Amino acid sequence: MTQSHLPFPVPVPNATIPFWRTNPHPLDTHRSTASLPQKTDILIIGAGYAGISTAYHLITSSSSSPPPSIVLLEAREICSGATGRNGGHLRPSVPFPELIEKYGIAACLEIVLFEIAHMDAMKSLIEKEGIVCDFTLTGGHTVTKDPATVEFMKDVLGRYIAECPDLAEDYTVVVGEEAEKQSGVKGVIGDWQHEVAHLWPYKLFAGLLEICVKRGVNLQTNTAVLKSGGRDEEGYWGFETERGDVRAKKVVFATNGYTAGLLPEYKDVIAPRKALCTHIVVKPSAEDGKVKRMGNGWDSTYIIEPPLGGFDYLIQRPDGGVVVGGANRTYKEDGSGLGDWDDSSMIKPAEGYFEGYLERYFSTFKKGEDEETVDMAWTGIQGHTPDSLPHIGAVPGKEGQFIIAGFNGHGMPVIHLSSKGLVEMIVEGKKFEETRIPKLYEATKERLGVKFVL
Ligand SMILES: Cc1cc2nc3c(=O)[nH]c(=O)nc-3n(C[C@H](O)[C@H](O)[C@H](O)COP(=O)(O)OP(=O)(O)OC[C@H]3O[C@@H](n4cnc5c(N)ncnc54)[C@H](O)[C@@H]3O)c2cc1C
Repeated sequence: MTQSHLPFPVPVPNATIPFWRTNPHPLDTHRSTASLPQKTDILIIGAGYAGISTAYHLITSSSSSPPPSIVLLEAREICSGATGRNGGHLRPSVPFPELIEKYGIAACLEIVLFEIAHMDAMKSLIEKEGIVCDFTLTGGHTVTKDPATVEFMKDVLGRYIAECPDLAEDYTVVVGEEAEKQSGVKGVIGDWQHEVAHLWPYKLFAGLLEICVKRGVNLQTNTAVLKSGGRDEEGYWGFETERGDVRAKKVVFATNGYTAGLLPEYKDVIAPRKALCTHIVVKPSAEDGKVKRMGNGWDSTYIIEPPLGGFDYLIQRPDGGVVVGGANRTYKEDGSGLGDWDDSSMIKPAEGYFEGYLERYFSTFKKGEDEETVDMAWTGIQGHTPDSLPHIGAVPGKEGQFIIAGFNGHGMPVIHLSSKGLVEMIVEGKKFEETRIPKLYEATKERLGVKFVL
């Protein structure tokens, strides 16, 4: 397999093991055929959330007979990228004032509503396909101790509610002492509350992939694409892989933080960023045998202290465990993380950050009474963009090539419906603006000029 010292991002061997991937699905290292197909109608590169969702929408929406042939190539195991390493938090967010100033409230509101729409869409998908993945709808708390951040929360929310009054039913900002009381987080004075969900991402996307493979998608794991080639006279794009060449009429780059490895025009446009997550085991109380929970509900989730130089995100799992990630306030200032695609090692400055975390932040946790142990820690590679927006649609100037990448560590409430829209472009030939994907997500030539300075 290709190595991390190369000048462009590629998935590295011996990645850290995330909690979510401790019990691999039978498809984890699956190859549908012993040899690599040499030719296909549609090639998808990357078997994470974006690649699998694209395959799923392709097979469930295609009415053509025979259906198009689809090959899905994955450099490592399925969901071994960000999808199998994330925080499991499905939390619709809102674009911040810089984006409102730059693009206008209407374009930003489109994103807000699109993300909220993922709550129902994901729930329906999971129910329809009967996938057991611990999907839990619950309340989310975004909490802060900083008065300026409270004002910021009220201001941002106020702007969206002024434009779309129905949002007042979905979002509230609780302030003062009540914020600590309702969230259970020590010393906070602001608590932005709304509906969120959490789930086991690996189980969901492995389950969807199983449906795809049963319906004919040719999955080839441990098959890194090494190079994109040109287009031949029959209109097929050529790709060099570790196991031979593949030609495809249409190709979808679902390679997130690694995209620039195959599409050089995305160098510093979508940059890899290394991030950290942990799993905490909470010992049941000796008194009643119950596991301590935080906040006003068994399942509530948290974003802790944004945006003061970074934040942490936390979910409480149905089995009593906690998945918490972030710690970027420990390393963000020195810029480490951005430009790093090595998920085989941890992040040095963040070492020890999550030890004693629950006791440090939550009033329900009492030193000496409760016990918490960080039993697993891992890293993962996100795809970041300087404008904080993903790139979705046709790759500029390359007919038949499509991209769905650059989710800025926030793909859960974005990718499912984006991939649905992308498939409408691929199969029905729709223009980007004819899909429901927010305008600001469009992959354009202009946005290729918006680069990080690394
Ligand atoms: C630590 C961490 C915590 C996160 N927490 C959250 C969260 O709580 N909520 C949330 O909304 N989002 C979160 N995210 C972000 C979320 O996981 C991503 O936005 C989402 O999973 C992106 O999916 P993807 O399919 O685009 O990318 P990936 O899952 O990274 O998939 C890309 C795939 O492409 C493959 N690939 C790359 N290059 C090649 C190549 N040359 N040949 C073949 N295959 C290739 C990779 O191996 C990989 O499997 C987190 C991310 C991380 C890393």
